[in-house]
This record gives sequence, C-alpha cells and structure tokens, in this order.
Amino acid sequence: TGTAPLLSVQDLNAWYGESHVLHGIGFDVQPGEVVTLLGRNGAGKTTTLKCVMGIVSSRKGSITFDGRELIKLPSNQIARAGIAFCPEERAIFASLDVVENLMLPPVVKPGGMTVDEVFGLFPRLKERGSSQGTKLSGGEQQMLAIARILRTGANLLLLDEPTEGLAPVIVQQIGDIIRALKAKGFTIVLVEQNFHFASTVADRHYVVEEGRVVDMIASDAIASSQEKLKTYLGV
Ligand code: ATP
Repeated sequence: TGTAPLLSVQDLNAWYGESHVLHGIGFDVQPGEVVTLLGRNGAGKTTTLKCVMGIVSSRKGSITFDGRELIKLPSNQIARAGIAFCPEERAIFASLDVVENLMLPPVVKPGGMTVDEVFGLFPRLKERGSSQGTKLSGGEQQMLAIARILRTGANLLLLDEPTEGLAPVIVQQIGDIIRALKAKGFTIVLVEQNFHFASTVADRHYVVEEGRVVDMIASDAIASSQEKLKTYLGV
C-alpha cells in the first residue's frame, strides 16, 4: 500500500555480549495490520520484539514508530510512545489476583482501557477476577498477559508466542481475541511457530532466519507456500 508504515525496522543488528544475533533484520508494519514473525527456535524473533521495546541494550540500526526514531530511546520512553510487549513467559504476578494484576501496569497513554473495558473483551477474566495468578489455567494467564498490556494505551502490541503450550480450543479463543483487537484498530506484531494459526490471524508473515528476514508471505499465499514454509520452519 502507499501509506506510511506505523512500524519500520531497518538494518537492525543486536548482540548479547559478544554474540551477534540479529544481522540486519528489516520489515514494515502498516497501521492496523497484523504481521507475524515466523521462524525456527533461535532465529531471532523474540530478540527483534525486545529490540523494538528497547529491552536489548546492544542494538543498532533503525526502528521508527509513527515516523519517530526509537533506536536510542530507553524502554520507558518507547512504552510512552505507544508500544507494549507481552512476553512468552507471560510474567503474571502469582500472589496477586486478576484485578490486582490488571491494576499494576501504568496507563502510559490516554486511551488505556479501564479494567471494565478489559473485562468486556475477556469475560472469562471477569469471572476469575478474584482468583490468584497461580490458580489460573495457562490460557487464562495468557489472556491476562494480553489484557494487562491493553491497560497501557499502547496501539502497537508485540505478542511473543501467545499460543505456546495451549490446547487447541484455547488457541482458537486467543485467535478470536487477536481478530477483535485488529477490528478495534490495534496494530500487532506476533511471534509464532504455528503457521496454520498465524494464517488465521495475520495479514502478512515475515520469515526470519539467523537474524535476517528471508521471505515475506501474505496470508492468502500460505496454502500455496506450505512446502517452502515447512523447509523454513524445519517441520
Ligand atoms: P525462540 O522461539 O526460541 O525464542 P527466537 O527466534 O525468538 O527463538 P531468540 O530468542 O531471539 O530467537 O534468540 C536468538 C539467539 O540469541 C539464539 O541463538 C539465542 O540462543 C540467543 N539468545 C537469546 N536470548 C539470549 C540471552 N539473554 N543471552 C544470550 N543469548 C541469547
């Protein structure tokens, strides 16, 4: 499309100590798009999301959000710009209940959802409102982790493998939530291993190998790209 991307990552390099893990990764995300980063374990997908969020300290290249360069900003300023990251490990506070977990994140931008608005989107969490973090199922924890970042008012959501380890029926519910968020106008970058799921929620897919983007596939081409994808993902 001819519109300016909301997020543009160009020539991104990142290191953990001496270990150089991103080698010039680049991709664009249009406003309102859902895009996935697909690739094998260790390809650099999580590190890419962490660089966008500013939590990998050794990073170089360009990350622009709404035209503004973020590469040198600390993560608190990146959050205030309107970006939120939902980690794979979910990081629910075990000793706090659902409502308390939802009260923790700072509302960093006007427009952050209230707890009631979040419950409108996640009726299951409302039912579980006074349950402690440890008492929640994996799917409920994942919903809470996503719900929590909606409180911040971010309009770009970075979701790291939200379906990891969840039963198929819960994966479907997570898919419904992602589609509902897209319908509300959120822009989403999703790390996924499961390209069947990815094709049901995302518009486009960037294939990541060894810290680089090696291919871009639109969802309507996923079916005809099965063999290629199996090779990329080693499945
Ligand atoms: P996964 O699905 O396993 O998370 P990924 O594509 O997200 O895979 P990354 O987690 O970004 O890959 O990892 C990229 C590379 O960086 C891998 O070689 C990994 O071992 C290494 N790595 C990741 N985190 C660290 C860390 N904190 N310290 C050192 N090396 C790391």
